[in-house]
Amino acid sequence: MHVAVENLTLPKFSIGVGDRFAHQAKAQLAACMKAADAGVEVVPVWNKSNREHTIIGSEPVETRAAADAAVKEMGWTKPYFVDADHINLKTVQRFLDSSNFFTLDVADLIGQPAKPEDVAAFLGAHPELVGTVTIPGIAEPFKTDKAFVEGVANKFLAAVQNAGEIYGLLLENKGAGRFVPEISMDETDFPQTPVELLIILAMIADEKIPIQTIAPKFTGRFNKGVDYVGDVKQFAKEFEEDLATIAFAIKRYGLPENLKLSVHSGSDKFSIYKAIHDGAKKFNAGVHLKTAGTNWLEELIGLAESDGTGLAIAKEIYSEALAHKDELTAPYATVIDIDDSKLPSAAEVNGWTGKQYAAALRHDQSNPAYNPSFRQLLHVGFKIAAKLGPRYLQALEANEDVVAKNVTANLWERHIKPVFLGL
Ligand SMILES: [Zn+2]
Repeated sequence: MHVAVENLTLPKFSIGVGDRFAHQAKAQLAACMKAADAGVEVVPVWNKSNREHTIIGSEPVETRAAADAAVKEMGWTKPYFVDADHINLKTVQRFLDSSNFFTLDVADLIGQPAKPEDVAAFLGAHPELVGTVTIPGIAEPFKTDKAFVEGVANKFLAAVQNAGEIYGLLLENKGAGRFVPEISMDETDFPQTPVELLIILAMIADEKIPIQTIAPKFTGRFNKGVDYVGDVKQFAKEFEEDLATIAFAIKRYGLPENLKLSVHSGSDKFSIYKAIHDGAKKFNAGVHLKTAGTNWLEELIGLAESDGTGLAIAKEIYSEALAHKDELTAPYATVIDIDDSKLPSAAEVNGWTGKQYAAALRHDQSNPAYNPSFRQLLHVGFKIAAKLGPRYLQALEANEDVVAKNVTANLWERHIKPVFLGL
């Protein structure tokens, strides 16, 4: 029985903060509080995927407990969310109770053709998508024909129908308005163009999924934990066209007013933050920036800086990660670019001071000691820390202050400020 009608709404600006070991919720929230103090509401979304829970051996309820505890302790009164990140029909079950944000991942179904009669029905229902498609805010109208729209439907309709199934399951289990749905299509081979995005949004509206955010695959490379690789001008153009397309689709297809773009693997993409900020400002649009679990690297930086046993653990993790490089990098092969020749030997790292370790790892491109290969290997090395179990967690707890300082500063200085405040 519903005693109160909830209608969970994702605010305009939100940041996805992965917290691999569920120890940084307070430090992450502190960054959002700095934004609030500066007059901009940026709400936290604690995300952790099924894959990460499986690698670490954790449960979604732990993410929820850490978020709730931080919110209570810090007196955060604005909204916050716990994201069942990249779930599908097979993996959603364990997230049902603890999450109020669901990232419906349909990338696996992209390219699987839908039933011919469903494609035909979609085409019949959407004559407006064939011919000249004019979207306010986009200078050149798009020219499409029936074959093109049919091709897009064949590529994406089955995926959107699958999202509809997951959404239906969530409706049954959680109730309407009691969770925020996002659809993600980023973990696929080719970026979606703005006109494809429009066609996909029409499908989503037909499936009656009231998505509040959508994560397309953008042009360029979004490697985990390092800067964007690609044509920044082209990205900026596409990003603005996507914003215009979303604004148009909200009106045309009756999608939720607050529907916004979600930038996955969005942490550390410093070279496109200005484009994201300027685009959002120009269209008065919201943004969800999802970090790539890099808070765990800030933990390592903090441990290294604390010297003593913290530094010893950070060194041990590197040497183990190096020894198990192939196995650690395999699941992330498409989203990391490690130059083996740039990886220092374990012996060399074992001789480093805490400052040297932190300088190699911290994402400061102006520092000649910064080493992106070292950083990317450690990024996928969280499995090693998970294996250390209580030893790793105790080190975090013993060095909480210096770890928290790094976690907060990274989110606030390097992410929230440039993306949401334009600083
Ligand atoms: Zn993603």
